[in-house]
Amino acid sequence: MAAIGRCVPLNDGSSIPNLGLGTCSLDKLVKGDTAKAVKTGIEIGYRHLDGALMYGNEDEIGEAIRAKIADGTVKREDIFYTSKVWMTYLSPDLVRNALTKTLKSLRLDYVDLYLIHWPMALKASEKELFPRDASGKILHENVDLRETWAVMEGCKDDGLVRSIGVSNFNRRQLEMILQMPNLKYKPVCNQVECHPYLNQSKLLMYCKSNNIVLVGYSPLGRPQDPALVNTKNPILLNDPELKKMGEKHQKTAAQIALRYQVQRGVVVIPKSFSPGRMKQNKEIFDFCLTDEDMKRIDGINKNCRYVTEETLIDHPNYPFHDEY
Ligand code: NDP
Repeated sequence: MAAIGRCVPLNDGSSIPNLGLGTCSLDKLVKGDTAKAVKTGIEIGYRHLDGALMYGNEDEIGEAIRAKIADGTVKREDIFYTSKVWMTYLSPDLVRNALTKTLKSLRLDYVDLYLIHWPMALKASEKELFPRDASGKILHENVDLRETWAVMEGCKDDGLVRSIGVSNFNRRQLEMILQMPNLKYKPVCNQVECHPYLNQSKLLMYCKSNNIVLVGYSPLGRPQDPALVNTKNPILLNDPELKKMGEKHQKTAAQIALRYQVQRGVVVIPKSFSPGRMKQNKEIFDFCLTDEDMKRIDGINKNCRYVTEETLIDHPNYPFHDEY
């Protein structure tokens, strides 16, 4: 099966496929689920895989990539794998520990893209993702993210990662990195929630003007899990405009939502572990939305966020207090 999508250039000379497969499962994972899904994903043409230490399944992603290299479906250089350093590893002396863990789990020599997962540092912990004190309060850490970034640059120089970027950074936080006096590498991307109900038009414009790619997570509005999303928001895939446009183009609302993004230069990483939906999500390169369609979708933006990380709302670096 041919590789799907188009490659978007990054500001460091590499490039990223504009459609990737998300691997953060909100369902209870049974051992083997991720490996099976990722193998299927690669078989049907996905070459960009989005993962993270935090998702707890990098061992299976590595297993799947290695299996598909071994059976001749792909070469390592055909795959673009993204991982992310979690909040408990943001102290400069811990970033490499997190990356070593990731590479060990994957059993690979490098990752293609390494991101600071969130701009909020938590107390160092090997065991807990959200370390708490005796009263249950999540323990924050005071870390200068510019020092964290300098270590990320070192990881790139050492060949452990090909490109480096950030995730969930607001404009001010991106500017802080871009204005570092000794900046060696700009972030290649900012991975943030992005879909027709949170179209991030201002952040997208800012990123484009700085040659930073916007990677949109939860591009389908994370339709399922009420435990993990802000359920006060309407369900994106039930939107009448998206459905109507789907009928016009003989596509689903999900395909319209994904096509909208790639057409405006946003890289999308929908998660699906179902072969049928994985196939559906890649069938977005055989039709075009008109300018009028694009405007109509712009018009359904509600600035509503499904992933709010509200347990950290009092963190000094909580990114979503700013407008963008
Ligand atoms: P998505 O918007 O991709 O939605 C995923 C959900 O939609 C799954 O439950 C999936 O179920 C279902 N689904 C997939 N395709 C379709 C379809 N065509 N029609 C209807 N339902 C569908 O949300 P995510 O939050 O998972 O975001 C995608 C990826 O982004 C994550 O997996 C992760 O890699 C990344 N991410 C990054 C974050 C960050 O902080 N940097 C935060 C959140 C996500 P099923 O599997 O059964 O098909």
